[in-house]
Amino acid sequence: MHVLITGGAGFIGSHLAQHHLALGDQVYVVDDLSTGVLANIDSFRGNPAFRFAEANILDWKGLDNAVAWADRIYHMAAVVGVKKVLEDPVAVMETNMTGTERLLAAIRQSGWNPQVIIASTSEVYGFNTSGSFAEIDYIVLPSAGRLRWAYAVTKLADEFLAFSYARQYGLKIVVVRLFNTIGPNQVGHYGMVAPTFVRQAVSNEPITVYGEGSQTRSFCDVRDTVVALDRLAGCPEAWGEVVNVGNDQEISIRDLAELVVRRAQSDSPLHFMSYKEAYGEEFEDVTHRRPVLNKLRALTGFSPEWALNDTLDDLIERERAKNRRVA
Ligand code: UDP
Repeated sequence: MHVLITGGAGFIGSHLAQHHLALGDQVYVVDDLSTGVLANIDSFRGNPAFRFAEANILDWKGLDNAVAWADRIYHMAAVVGVKKVLEDPVAVMETNMTGTERLLAAIRQSGWNPQVIIASTSEVYGFNTSGSFAEIDYIVLPSAGRLRWAYAVTKLADEFLAFSYARQYGLKIVVVRLFNTIGPNQVGHYGMVAPTFVRQAVSNEPITVYGEGSQTRSFCDVRDTVVALDRLAGCPEAWGEVVNVGNDQEISIRDLAELVVRRAQSDSPLHFMSYKEAYGEEFEDVTHRRPVLNKLRALTGFSPEWALNDTLDDLIERERAKNRRVA
């Protein structure tokens, strides 16, 4: 199979590349290296089944040819991370919406009908306080134009673009709402909690828990996520649908901090920080977030294989190995 991955040097994209190369597929990655990094794809670059283009999805000249080549497309190119969104909201609006529209228009014009995954996010559920989210639930977004929600709005626009193309032109598109994903190659620069806590614990620095740490999340290992995406893309019943993807084991951020400290046998104390201190302004955090996975299970039979302890142990070991290399 020929697999095109936009944003393929990013965290999830590079795991998709690895997954498909291991299956013997041909993989073509495009990434502008804004958040993706070459280190994520370095190990594939000598592989004749792998190709890389450094380009931005907004003006990539090779897009039409790549789309016509592909049997499957994962559209992962996006500006992500809530901190990044607050820093550069214009880039978020442009890349996330115009980029997706450009890709969908290219697919339609190709006259070819590849399987397509459009990456959306659990952030689209917005400020819905129910805590556990099914695909048919209502979306609650504030009306006062607060930029903290810009990312969610762009991804919701992408969802409707995807449904429109799927309905009107019969494209084989699955929209996936990705819940918190963790694993190797995720970076902490944009506020992602797991790599941040692991780095802090391994270097015995204070663990920065925002708020009281009573907010909860459900973390899915990226190596499980890519299996779910692969199955959904090839599942005709999923085309034209939106599907939650994640792991439904929930943990509070305070418990996560304590767990990381324990697994790393670290001396790090917990350091509680206000949201204002953390994000530089008042910030609306989602208090509880857990995916309802009935639809994913019914469509694909998927169940995650990685337990949180195993993922954390793996991340801790990798962080130690990285520090040994630097020393
Ligand atoms: N968080 C934290 N300390 C950090 C980074 C994040 O307490 O150093 C919290 C953050 O406020 C949120 C949760 O951890 O409640 C998950 O944050 P992340 O940015 O990883 O994902 P989100 O679910 O917010 O998209």
